[in-house]
Amino acid sequence: MIAGNPQRSSDCTGGVSPGVAHLLDFDFTSVIEHTVRDVQYTWKNGDPVAIRLDEAQAMWMVRRDRFDALLRDHAIKAGAIIKPATATGAVLGSVEGERRWMVQTDAGSLSAQYAIVADGACSAAINWIGAARPALRLAAMLDVDTSLQRSNLNAPPRVEFGLGQIENGLLWCFPKQATVSIGAATFLGHDDPQLADRLLAYAQARGWHAQRSDIRQRPLTLWSGDHPLHRDQAVIVGDAAGLSDPVTGEGLRPAIDSGLRAAEAIIAALNHQPNALAAYTKTIHQTWGVDFAWASRLAQILYRVPGLAYKVAVKKPIANKLMAQVLCGDLRYSDIAGKAIAKLSKKLLPWG
Ligand SMILES: Cc1cc2nc3c(=O)[nH]c(=O)nc-3n(C[C@H](O)[C@H](O)[C@H](O)COP(=O)(O)OP(=O)(O)OC[C@H]3O[C@@H](n4cnc5c(N)ncnc54)[C@H](O)[C@@H]3O)c2cc1C
Repeated sequence: MIAGNPQRSSDCTGGVSPGVAHLLDFDFTSVIEHTVRDVQYTWKNGDPVAIRLDEAQAMWMVRRDRFDALLRDHAIKAGAIIKPATATGAVLGSVEGERRWMVQTDAGSLSAQYAIVADGACSAAINWIGAARPALRLAAMLDVDTSLQRSNLNAPPRVEFGLGQIENGLLWCFPKQATVSIGAATFLGHDDPQLADRLLAYAQARGWHAQRSDIRQRPLTLWSGDHPLHRDQAVIVGDAAGLSDPVTGEGLRPAIDSGLRAAEAIIAALNHQPNALAAYTKTIHQTWGVDFAWASRLAQILYRVPGLAYKVAVKKPIANKLMAQVLCGDLRYSDIAGKAIAKLSKKLLPWG
């Protein structure tokens, strides 16, 4: 049984790694607005670097409301019961001799032997189960209606990543059928109080009409270290578990992957496998945790000395190719980050 609020879709710029196709065995075509092979990087809004991804690495551009609805429909087909409700509290208690989670919602109470905490970056359920809250960083996003922009009609859709516009951070722009989604966040150090201004400036420089009131500011839970992801009869997934990529902010693929692994752990626990939930924590630490630790080290250099990183990495076709393979799930950060960090560090030395 899933308790969730169907009226509210998550704030997200909707760039999805094609690696998601390997996680779920259904067709996403109906919700993919573009599969994008053209990527442009910029440094301080200039010095563009264009790359073309291989077909298998093309990024999916989706609208979260439609993407989430597809996932929801498949969950229902697979037997899930959706309760449109907002949870307000939960306790683990005894019901007729069995330990169960009792969840209070604005539409009555629910009970289950096992619970999955999947209520996103601002998770309240983390407190209810007594687990550690991941660190939050501020991100901002803006959807701009570009349906009347005739000049771009024949150009292939292109993803843009801007370095040097946000101190210690990144700005990105993802095209949809009738809109573009622009996102920005700092990835290190303090949050940037001017994120909204920077998004507006980016949109206005492209002749897109946008207002400050269109901007949504939301937290990101970039991975910031391993911590236990299970408690008594409960596991934590996705943003509530702090599973977003410290280099790119990608969170959808880890959220789906951790959700699937959490379900497997609960099935194992229901089948009386000892330590099944602890094994979930261990698996996430050994997969995403190991990888994000490498990503985190890479982010420390990329966002601290972005000008150098732009010259030494972004402008090198081989570095771009490797990063594209990481983003589509063909490679892990652990495969590439050691060498990349060594190369960048060497350039930082006076004789490098
Ligand atoms: C500005 C921004 C842009 C982003 N862009 C991208 C991107 O392009 N690509 C990418 O891969 N990742 C992106 N991310 C990250 C991505 O959105 C998240 O990592 C991902 O949505 C995590 O999924 P989740 O299911 O854990 O949480 P969410 O998607 O936040 O889902 C949590 C759900 O729980 C529901 N909920 C919350 N509280 C309750 C409650 N009390 N009762 C019932 N239901 C509740 C919410 O309504 C929501 O539906 C972005 C994040 C931000 C902030």
